[in-house]
Amino acid sequence: MSAKPKVAFFDFACCEGCQLQIANLEEDVVQLAGLVDVVEFREVLTGSAPEYDIAFIEGSITRKADEERLKNIRSRSKLIVAYGQCAVTGGINRLKNRWQTMDEVKKQVYGDHFNMPHLDTYRTKGIDEIVKVDLYIPGCPINRDEFLQVVKELLLGKTPKMPNYPVCVECKLKENVCLFDTGITCLGPLARAGCGAICPSNGAPCDACRGTVADPNKNAMHEILMKYNYTVAQIKNKIDIFGVDPEVKK
Ligand code: SF4
Ligand code: SF4
Ligand code: SF4
Repeated sequence: MSAKPKVAFFDFACCEGCQLQIANLEEDVVQLAGLVDVVEFREVLTGSAPEYDIAFIEGSITRKADEERLKNIRSRSKLIVAYGQCAVTGGINRLKNRWQTMDEVKKQVYGDHFNMPHLDTYRTKGIDEIVKVDLYIPGCPINRDEFLQVVKELLLGKTPKMPNYPVCVECKLKENVCLFDTGITCLGPLARAGCGAICPSNGAPCDACRGTVADPNKNAMHEILMKYNYTVAQIKNKIDIFGVDPEVKK
């Protein structure tokens, strides 16, 4: 039997884009394979195991049946890592929670057939609303390098720390022109860094796909809102797309 830690990957409601980030690690897959024994990963292999040292969970919880499956995985895993914003907060799937009822959501998709019995969807939840989560890897999608770093640190017995400073720090280090100066709203002052400010560096606003920093400097954001005539409601509406960071919820 292999002495390497047993690692498994599971997905719930999501686009599977975060799994693809891992499947596309290319030469780093060899490095990963040398560190762990991947025993379950639907996207890249068949097979399973009765228990795991680390279970990586992707996707949000949207049905009662998901809860039972997730609890079963929790009962068989020493560590649970929520990876990708769908698992961390519910992610983009949370948009359906803006409707008053799930019947309204189902009508949007299925029209007159919205009442079919298998359409048992409910309000989207992050996985920590069902089971205890030991670690979060934010992002939509996750950053591959950050994922590898997390795996290495976990194997060394360390507790990985996510950056707790805003995207603006990385953006300013790159000497970008601030998008607010061009009339574009950007969540960089509140968003959790770690992506290298990839969006503003390419002319697109940050939408806080990695959630918000645990202690957002609201005063700095407030000053920016006042300076550029934005409202708190406009910003809140945008933040809600990817959900509030778990550390902020606590
Ligand atoms: S976090 Fe984004 S990329 Fe990852 S599975 Fe969810 S929607 Fe897809
Ligand atoms: S607000 Fe956006 S564009 Fe401006 S510095 Fe911050 S991250 Fe960069
Ligand atoms: S810049 Fe913002 S939206 Fe873009 S990847 Fe980074 S955190 Fe996500």
